[in-house]
Amino acid sequence: MYLGIDFGTSGARGIVIDSAGKIVAEVRLAFDVSCETNLTNCWETALFSLLEQINKKLRQEITRIAINGTSSTVLLCDAGGNPVDAPLLYNDARGAAMGDKLKDIAPANHTALSATSSLVKLLWMMELPSFAKAKYFLHQADWLGFLLHGKLGISDYHNALKLGYDVETLQYPKWFSKLQISIHLPKVTIPGNPIGELRSDIADKYNFPKNCLVCAGTTDSIAAFLGSGANSPGEAVTSLGSTLVLKLLSRTRVDNFQYGIYSHRFGDLWLTGGASNTGGAVLKQFFSNEELEKISNEIDVKKSSGLNYYPLLKPGERFPINDSNLPPQLEPRPDNSVEFLHGLLESMARIEARGYELLQELGADNLSCVYTAGGGAKNLVWSEIRKQYLGVPVVSSINTEAAYGSALLAMRGLANFRH
Ligand code: ADP
Repeated sequence: MYLGIDFGTSGARGIVIDSAGKIVAEVRLAFDVSCETNLTNCWETALFSLLEQINKKLRQEITRIAINGTSSTVLLCDAGGNPVDAPLLYNDARGAAMGDKLKDIAPANHTALSATSSLVKLLWMMELPSFAKAKYFLHQADWLGFLLHGKLGISDYHNALKLGYDVETLQYPKWFSKLQISIHLPKVTIPGNPIGELRSDIADKYNFPKNCLVCAGTTDSIAAFLGSGANSPGEAVTSLGSTLVLKLLSRTRVDNFQYGIYSHRFGDLWLTGGASNTGGAVLKQFFSNEELEKISNEIDVKKSSGLNYYPLLKPGERFPINDSNLPPQLEPRPDNSVEFLHGLLESMARIEARGYELLQELGADNLSCVYTAGGGAKNLVWSEIRKQYLGVPVVSSINTEAAYGSALLAMRGLANFRH
């Protein structure tokens, strides 16, 4: 049995799978108000209550565990692994001001230059009084893993990408020395690689086998990708959530700062991707979920709506069009809501297709199949429209839970992901 644990923004979840990938147990826990005052305490309590929620007999069969955290959620710890200050969450942009210092040191357009990257967060933390007590800088998943295996200062190359770690040469870049970081940066390993055995006191207390291995983790969005079923070059996952997020597996790496495109290392492949500001949030402005379901079924997918929108909540787009002033285009608006929704779904499918075209123009492998995740995935009328624009099969993801992806990662590791 394999346990995947997902720490999200509002709660934590655990999924246990067997060696055929079948879910045998699911446990979850919502973060409560105490989390606002002592986040790391809350994470620690949540981690152990998840373990406790798993049936005691089942725990005895779990041989590997992997954890995913939210990307770029980071913290400083002392030599014993105790947090010395509050963590900085994934969307915290207080470090943005450090970008100016970093701009003179990091190469132009580097991923770590974004306002919320782990590296700008570290530079910001280096100015805090609490930094004097710090010995280690860790990502959320690294620290949670440490609580289980007891080894400090280890990360994986998915979490470490936005810290500036060079995932191609597998080392910190030379320019890091100019940052004069006086504490330990994490040693970086392959996501899913075993780091060590579960601490024996924990194994005894919770009835896990003595040789249960804790593996290197990953980020939330990659964990969600891992469960999709996509595993070969040319296979992609579109997430139709509030925004439109594209991920395409490729043998070549694609990075383009202008369009916000970057690539994660994925075993011997690259996971390339970009995110558009169009998506379900615009649909939500006009339709409830029930209306979306009902009205979609009235659309005749054999006909074209004849409408060409660029659905956005507010001006500005990065991918697949880079224009910070791009206005939302939602006119002309027909009186008939079936025609209007048809136009919106077609226009988003056009933007999705353009997104994949752009990734391929920049060097990614040819698109062969698109798996779908997010709130819009259940809309089969939309899938049919998307199939016409994408020109490849459009299928549902096998599972979109990050905890499921982390359980698969614990089972197969990343290097063995292609089957
Ligand atoms: P988030 O990115 O917030 O996690 P979700 O993956 O939960 O988003 O998806 C929510 C979005 O899905 C909403 O914006 C909603 O408009 C959209 N949605 C829900 N049901 C449908 C449907 N039947 N067809 C198309 N879109 C839908």
